[in-house]
Amino acid sequence: MENYRVTKALGQGTWGVVHMAEQIGSNRVVALKKIKSKTSGEGINFTAIREIKLLREFRHENIIELVDVFVTPDQAVCLVYECAETDLEKVLNNKSIPMSFSDIKQHLSSLLRAISACHDRWILHRDLKPDNMLFLKDGTMKLADFGLARMYGTPKQRLSPQAITLWYKPPELLLGSYEYSSAADMWSVGCIFAELLLRRPFLQGKQTDISQLDTIFTVFGTPNETNWPDHKALPLCARGLLWDDVPAIPFDEIFTGAPRDAISLLRSILALDPNMRFTASQSLSHPYFSNEPPPTPKEKLVLDTPS
Ligand code: AMP
Repeated sequence: MENYRVTKALGQGTWGVVHMAEQIGSNRVVALKKIKSKTSGEGINFTAIREIKLLREFRHENIIELVDVFVTPDQAVCLVYECAETDLEKVLNNKSIPMSFSDIKQHLSSLLRAISACHDRWILHRDLKPDNMLFLKDGTMKLADFGLARMYGTPKQRLSPQAITLWYKPPELLLGSYEYSSAADMWSVGCIFAELLLRRPFLQGKQTDISQLDTIFTVFGTPNETNWPDHKALPLCARGLLWDDVPAIPFDEIFTGAPRDAISLLRSILALDPNMRFTASQSLSHPYFSNEPPPTPKEKLVLDTPS
C-alpha cells in the first residue's frame, strides 16, 4: 500500500470499494480494488484468486490490465488496474451524450474483440453488461470484472447456472443448465447490442429467473422443436415447467429505424438455441462491420458531457 497514494473513491463493487490512486514514483493513475476476506482467517477470497489467475498474463487492447497485486496488513487482497474514466452504463444513462450507428459499431466491435480473445483462451466472462465495459481517456474500451470468469471446455465441467446478471442471462442458464459454454456470453453480447440500439435495457425481467424467462419468451416466442430442439433436456423443462405457446415478435417491429445489417447480426447472435448462436469470431466477420457507416474512431467517441 505504501507504493500508492489513494486520491478518491471510484465506486462500490460486490467485493469491495474501488479507489483511484497514484503509483508513487511513476505517478501512474491506477484503480485499487480491495477485496476483503469474509471473515478473518478465512484466507484469500476466491473471487480475487480467480481474477488474478485469469488476468495475470492477459494482454489485450480491450481487456483491463492488471498492473499489480498485493496483500494489505489487514489481510485484504488489493488488485491494481489501469484506471478508466467512465463505463458504458454511465454513457447510456447520460441522455445528453449522442449515440450514432457508427458509435454503436465501434462499441460492439471492441466488445467482440475482447470476448473473442477470452473464448480463444477457453475463458468465459460470465458477467458481461454495460457497467463492466470501461473506457480509458483515449476512448479505448476495456472489458473488466473477471471475478465470475471461469475456464471451460473439455473435459466438460459442471458450471453453476448462478452466473451473469439477470437481464443479460441466457435462457439455458435460466432453465438450469450446468453445461453451458461461450454461447452464454454471446447472449449477453446480444443484449448489450440491443441496448445500444434501443438505448434502454432490452429484456428487463423483474428480479426472478422465471420473470426473465417470461420476458425472453414474449419476445422470442416459446421454445419448440424448430427454434430450440434440445431445450426439453434442461432441468427446469425436464421438471415439467411449461409456457403458453406464443409467437416471436419480428425484430424490425422492435428495432424500428435500425439498419438491416445490424438487425441481421443481432438476430444471429440472439438465437434461443445456444448451438445456433453466432460466436464472437463469426460476428466479427458479419457484413455489418464492413458495410457503411464505418465505426467511429475510438478517440472521436463522445463519452462525457462537455464541462
Ligand atoms: P467492480 O468491483 O469491478 O464491480 O467495480 C466497482 C466500481 O468501481 C465500478 O462500477 C466502477 O465504477 C469502478 N471501477 C472498477 N474498476 C475500475 C477501473 N479499472 N477504473 C475505474 N473505475 C473502476
